[in-house]
Amino acid sequence: MANLGIPQNTIEILQKYRFRFQKKYGQNFLIDTSVLDRIIAAAQITKEDCVLEIGPGIGTMTQYLAEAAREVVAVEIDPSLIPILKDTLSAYDNVTVINDDILKVDINRIAAEKNGGKLMKVVANLPYYITTPIIMGLFEEHVPLESITIMVQKEVADRMQVGPGTKDYGALSLAVQYYAKPEIVANVPPNCFIPRPNVGSAVIRLTRYAQPPVQVKDEQKMFALIRASFNQRRKTLVNGLGNAANLPYSKEQVAAALENMGLLPTVRGETLTLAQFAELSDRL
Ligand code: SAM
Repeated sequence: MANLGIPQNTIEILQKYRFRFQKKYGQNFLIDTSVLDRIIAAAQITKEDCVLEIGPGIGTMTQYLAEAAREVVAVEIDPSLIPILKDTLSAYDNVTVINDDILKVDINRIAAEKNGGKLMKVVANLPYYITTPIIMGLFEEHVPLESITIMVQKEVADRMQVGPGTKDYGALSLAVQYYAKPEIVANVPPNCFIPRPNVGSAVIRLTRYAQPPVQVKDEQKMFALIRASFNQRRKTLVNGLGNAANLPYSKEQVAAALENMGLLPTVRGETLTLAQFAELSDRL
């Protein structure tokens, strides 16, 4: 099958199947061979690897993954893409396509069945409307993962990488940085896709830590505090956490914990590091 990274080949397949793009599924297909090569290189795929691809579309990146990896499992929600994938991936016997919603699939089961529970790599040009739930789901469900190499909206890639004191810093930054080391590996302009998205994109690699960079007694509690802190971003932590309906702390308790950490009662969540959130969680 012809390389779908070449625009003419993608156009031919779309016409052959009279494919209609579905906006609700965030369908923007890659048509740039150099971007595809960079994603595969950044993901460091070898013939030992079992790769999970989220949203294969017409199979453009899947072809590259099938060449580079031992095994590929691709989960695609849109049933109208399944016959197309059968055609475009017919040359490969190491690809399994699953027609389902990635948010409903038991990825731990896929890892067990296809890779004996060993660490997998995730590679995807993500549907942007569900970027955060996909990433958080992969981390929080403790799927056996070595790395996640994904195309996301440029602004979201920035959010994953930044530290305290910047406008993009928030719950996503802290969650990603607790579980993984983020590195932006490429910026990708809209003209590398068909149809063109309205925003710039970036490829980011999240390399999972064997051990999180900070120790915390109760992960769930820390993330509840982080979420509450950034839900009311402009409020001080004393007001934001002391008033949060789902947290059992009084303003006085929050102020005392902050004081014991050497912080003023007027601090906001956007200035705290991950280590400070871990300490606050342990003290409360
Ligand atoms: N990988 C292809 C490429 O790079 O050209 C397509 C990428 S496109 C940005 C996103 C793909 O994810 C689409 O094929 C879309 O149908 C699929 N998708 C959207 N929501 C999904 C979901 N919840 N579960 C699985 N796939 C989904």
